[in-house]
Amino acid sequence: MTSPVSETQSFTLQFMGAAGVVTGSKHLLRTPEITVLIDCGLFQGLKNLRQLNRQTLPVEAASIQVVIITHAHLDHTGYLPVLVRNGFKGKIYLTGPTSALTEIILLDSAKLQEEDADHAIHAGYSKHSPALPLYTQEDARETFKHLQICAHNEWIELSKHIRFRFKKNGHILGSCFVEMDCFEKRIVFSGDLGKQESYSLAPPLIPEKADILVIESTYGDRLHPATSSEKELSDIIHDVIHKKGTLLIPSFAVGRAQDLMLLINLMKKKNFIPDIPVYLDSPMGKNATEVYRDFPDWHKLPPEQCADMWNNIIWVSDLKETYKVIDKPGPKIVIAASGMLTGGRVLHYLKNYLGQHQNTILLTGYQAAGTRGRALRSKVHEIKIFGSYYPVKAEVKEMATLSAHADQRELINWMKAIPNKPERIFIVHGEPSASYALELKIHDELGWNAVTPIMNETFELAGKQNIRGADATAPALPENVTK
Ligand SMILES: [Zn+2]
Repeated sequence: MTSPVSETQSFTLQFMGAAGVVTGSKHLLRTPEITVLIDCGLFQGLKNLRQLNRQTLPVEAASIQVVIITHAHLDHTGYLPVLVRNGFKGKIYLTGPTSALTEIILLDSAKLQEEDADHAIHAGYSKHSPALPLYTQEDARETFKHLQICAHNEWIELSKHIRFRFKKNGHILGSCFVEMDCFEKRIVFSGDLGKQESYSLAPPLIPEKADILVIESTYGDRLHPATSSEKELSDIIHDVIHKKGTLLIPSFAVGRAQDLMLLINLMKKKNFIPDIPVYLDSPMGKNATEVYRDFPDWHKLPPEQCADMWNNIIWVSDLKETYKVIDKPGPKIVIAASGMLTGGRVLHYLKNYLGQHQNTILLTGYQAAGTRGRALRSKVHEIKIFGSYYPVKAEVKEMATLSAHADQRELINWMKAIPNKPERIFIVHGEPSASYALELKIHDELGWNAVTPIMNETFELAGKQNIRGADATAPALPENVTK
């Protein structure tokens, strides 16, 4: 890593996803030695975004030598099976828990896509004839052959002048930011940055230095409320008990579901809430919970608390049981995936509970534009599920304190703690209003110039100027947002 580098060495970074949007993270680093893709996520949410998953990438899959994955969430891993099917032959580097969770998430994603394609064929609403899943479970399994587990904080040499290491960033189990030495520059990819306070994870570590920083901005324009999660959730649960209804919590199966289980257990132990039944209806959530037991070094839960979280939940595994749970009278709590109500078991509950006043739907995480979760948050009067409309009569509540993302203040503080001033900062993984608010805050508070790339934009990284590429297109920017 110490050999002299010619002044003419140049490398580029192209943002093939999470540029002006939250999903589809794919950052392509082209260097004279190798081509590296950092994250390989699926676009989710609005239809025009999901359609991007079917478009050809602006790079040949076979020309990418290495993929590095910051964490297992679908918007960072969900495109891997397509990349492999299209000819990627290299290694996919990731941490132990990320590898375990990625296998669970990709198999689930493939299964859902196969089921959706089947459903579309039978219901006759597919525009493709026949409807084709984006990838199959077989494609997902093929991807697993490329996974290469890396230890925390250990440098991995990729080529003569390029190496990287993972550092914990407190977002979900196994999640990390990436520090990469590329010729004479240190590039840091934040991944999704966690909060300072979490029930199960340590706060994000701080980069040693950063010449070039790629930072997420999911909550770049917002602060999380200062109220405690316990107080907020306990009020909601007491209200549901009073109404003898069901508290339906759509939840990401990885991370959020486990935090909710921990929190509810804790509240029962402290007698903040009575011992009402809590169901977790997500086979993926169950598998993900097992990963917590397998990787004790990656979280801060003592073994007895892990066991407790496991024992006090009623697990629902097949769809027949789902319908039995739906018929059980309240009060009860049901946690089910998916978190943004885009698919999964939660839709069966939603269909049955949405029309009754005594029930509460609790949104606990980020809701992307175009999802049923975002529609509910916007107080729509009806929701379309499996091709039919259902009126919204249940109460819809939101809890931001359980978010797995740093808010604006935490993002700024994390950057402020980096010992040097980065030459270049790229803001990704945010809706335009969030990214631009963070861009402004970075300028005003830190005195640094940041830029929010647009979809497929390429930047030359050898110099210190932000030279924008000519190949930028901006298909995903909403019309009502101007910079
Ligand atoms: Zn994430």
